[in-house]
Amino acid sequence: MPWFYIGVALSLMLGFVFNSLLLSVSTFLIVLLFKHWHNLQQLDIWLNSDDNLAELPEVKGIWGRVFDRITQLQSQHRQSQQALKNSIIRIQKSTHAMREGVITLDANGTLEWWNAAARKMLGLKKNQDQGTPLINLLREPDFFRYFHQADFSRPITVNSPTDTSQVLQITVTEFGMGDKLLVLRDITYKQNLKHMRSDFIGNVSHELRTPLTVIHGYLETIQVHHPELDKQLQKVHSRMLFQTQRMTNLVQDLLMLSRLETNINQPTEVENNVAQLCKQARSDARAEAQQMDKELTINLHLNSEQYLLGVEGEVRSAITNLVINAVKYTPDGGQIDISWEVCDEGLCFSVSDDGIGIAEEHIQRLTERFYRVDASRTLSTGGTGLGLAIVKHIMHRHQGRLDIVSELGKGSRFTCVFPHPKQPLAASLYAATHG
Ligand code: ADP
Repeated sequence: MPWFYIGVALSLMLGFVFNSLLLSVSTFLIVLLFKHWHNLQQLDIWLNSDDNLAELPEVKGIWGRVFDRITQLQSQHRQSQQALKNSIIRIQKSTHAMREGVITLDANGTLEWWNAAARKMLGLKKNQDQGTPLINLLREPDFFRYFHQADFSRPITVNSPTDTSQVLQITVTEFGMGDKLLVLRDITYKQNLKHMRSDFIGNVSHELRTPLTVIHGYLETIQVHHPELDKQLQKVHSRMLFQTQRMTNLVQDLLMLSRLETNINQPTEVENNVAQLCKQARSDARAEAQQMDKELTINLHLNSEQYLLGVEGEVRSAITNLVINAVKYTPDGGQIDISWEVCDEGLCFSVSDDGIGIAEEHIQRLTERFYRVDASRTLSTGGTGLGLAIVKHIMHRHQGRLDIVSELGKGSRFTCVFPHPKQPLAASLYAATHG
């Protein structure tokens, strides 16, 4: 910067000519100030330049060191930016190669980004669908309800909008400020296998029903028309009758389970008079107790008159299963309490007994098919081991759950929690959004 030296020379000269040290010093300071202002000006131009590759001018001294350090930091920044870009590209490439569909939604539920698999599964188009609410594209009422209830603890199964034979399982994870990450899995194969298994069980049970009815009928006829059977034969005969009844119950329960599993279409729902169903269940329980030669106190606590929107046969089946279980597993002289009431989460039906109870380690597994705490006791009660599996399925289909609390030797409480009357809100929102 030769003019700087010229300035210094000028200040010395002025001082010498006018014989004034003050003039010389002030001229020098002005020159120095101008030098700094000039360098600052250069830095400002560089900072505001659109040219990413523009370089800072070469200067010496403290400004030179500052410019060098800035250049060094800029180069480090460029390198890390490039590394970040490379890893983003890598992540995008790997997510695009995934078999699972991946979608990110913002807090309003609109589509932000998706990978290639999600594009295929939902038929998404980049220019058209980005920024569109997902529920406008995935127009299944079940998904709409699931999305609005915002309980993502369980995945949901839906049919692909582009190919209705394709079954997708969607898992939602929330992150950030209400943003969502959706993972979509094609479970068509798994679902088909499940249906094949249920169909097979359903068909076999159906085929077994007729011969069993015939055998049972003949055994009853023998009982009525041949009271003279000798003691030994009578014993054999009543055993045969008991076992055919057990098999008939088993076939009925298997058919019910297979129907619950395969019927993926929403069945017709009606307003169920649960109070009335409870009264009916109490009569059934009394009859069952009498048959089992037990004296039981059976109390009804109908604290709500509210009707329940649900599938008629299924609601009745859940209630009956729990009440009959209470009779089976409560010894003579015991007490059973059946109640129907409004609870925090909606409507609750519960059955409590002071019967044999269940040890804690079994409670988790009670709703598995054929799971029995004590097989020998169940066989004597004629149980199928499918009752609680049926109740669990029914509750699941009614978006509810089955709670079990029990203590060995003290008794049990089974509660069916039906969530608040099924969201007319969701239905109206759905209608509003989907016209
Ligand atoms: P089961 O036909 O054997 O009764 P469930 O599926 O209805 O089949 O019940 C599964 C098991 O849960 C039963 O075998 C029994 O051990 C236990 N259980 C069900 N209800 C009760 C109850 N009220 N008290 C004690 N144990 C019960």
